[in-house]
Amino acid sequence: MPAMAVDAIERMLCQFIESRRESMIDEVRRYVAIPTGMGYAPGLEEFRSLVTKRLAALGAMTSLVPGQPRPQWLEYPPSESQPAVVPPALRASHRAKSSTPRVLITGHLDTVHDPQGSFRQLSISADGGTATGPGAVDMKGGIVIGLTALEALAACGIDLNWTVLLNSDEETGSFHSHDAIFAASKEHDIGIALEPAMPDGSLVVQRLGSGQFQIEVHGKAAHAGRDFVKGVSAVNALGDILVTVAKWSQPSDGLIVNVGPLQGGQTTNIVPDYAACWGNMRFADERGAKELQQWLVGLQTSGQLLPRIVVNQVINRPPKPLIAPVRKLAEAAQGAAGDLGLQLDVGSSGGVSDGNIMQAAGLPTIDTFGARGGNLHRTDEFIELESLVERGKLLAVLLARAARGAIRLS
Ligand SMILES: [Zn+2]
Repeated sequence: MPAMAVDAIERMLCQFIESRRESMIDEVRRYVAIPTGMGYAPGLEEFRSLVTKRLAALGAMTSLVPGQPRPQWLEYPPSESQPAVVPPALRASHRAKSSTPRVLITGHLDTVHDPQGSFRQLSISADGGTATGPGAVDMKGGIVIGLTALEALAACGIDLNWTVLLNSDEETGSFHSHDAIFAASKEHDIGIALEPAMPDGSLVVQRLGSGQFQIEVHGKAAHAGRDFVKGVSAVNALGDILVTVAKWSQPSDGLIVNVGPLQGGQTTNIVPDYAACWGNMRFADERGAKELQQWLVGLQTSGQLLPRIVVNQVINRPPKPLIAPVRKLAEAAQGAAGDLGLQLDVGSSGGVSDGNIMQAAGLPTIDTFGARGGNLHRTDEFIELESLVERGKLLAVLLARAARGAIRLS
């Protein structure tokens, strides 16, 4: 089949995106300067309301979806952790006048960066090619790309059913926003998330799943010198468990178990009556997830016998395999990229995103339509500024093709 050329309306979309080149950089600068890391509510609220105004200007109905609390056992260190503030998710839905596929675009307003830290502003490199800043690529640049692509559609009179869903807790596992994402995913046909592309621009089409766990060990305290034999060391028992758990990882099969942080003991001359560890598990498929979950359950003891072992666990991002509809969506994106003169490859990642939740709800999703850049989650995080225009055009053209029914996933 010959490559579909960019048509007149798609050229208009591209011209619109080109005309926004400077303003897109300004928007990234403005958004990056709003601190939204570590659940910082004032920053999240400020950023959320800016984005709400832009979406409302496109004729979207906006609402705040209340979040769920996270399980308390996830918090570390447990004694110092405040109950987390539960942020809402912003949902903005635009209904088309005619029937079109329904596209769900997700993103996160939060970053991993310390709102009080010294990494606070966008700084553009001497040659103007890249810019560092907290959340520049993960994912304030992506949000600018998503909003600009939708604005391009509106400016060119392209009618599409779309919903934008922006949460505020993606970087901490989307526990608060899981249900909002899952419910919205059920109501849509095509899933897009604005996470950063791979460094070369590739789309991630396959991801491992991820879960969290906590192992608690209860022992019996005793003075180490006077009553040592009466004690039951929770630390020693946890040590034995860690040796077992360390053997579970089979990275070549996509099974990964990482343990840390650890807690145990109060002082050196008392046999510790409590120890705990927190960990993360990754798996390529349902079978791997079940296996790890059963192994964890198998560590638990029954009754009151000491040491007593209690396991808490949750799978918050199911695996995201490369299913046929995702392959078709990737091919549609590659087709659009080719017509725009861009090379677009696909790859896989051990990292997880809200795309895992979207696809688990049955929505074929590609979650890396955001900007190109690198050093995510570090204080030298950077964005490739040219990618704002490049990915803006790609997304706008892809959405235009979805609007006219040219993307068939089943
Ligand atoms: Zn991200």
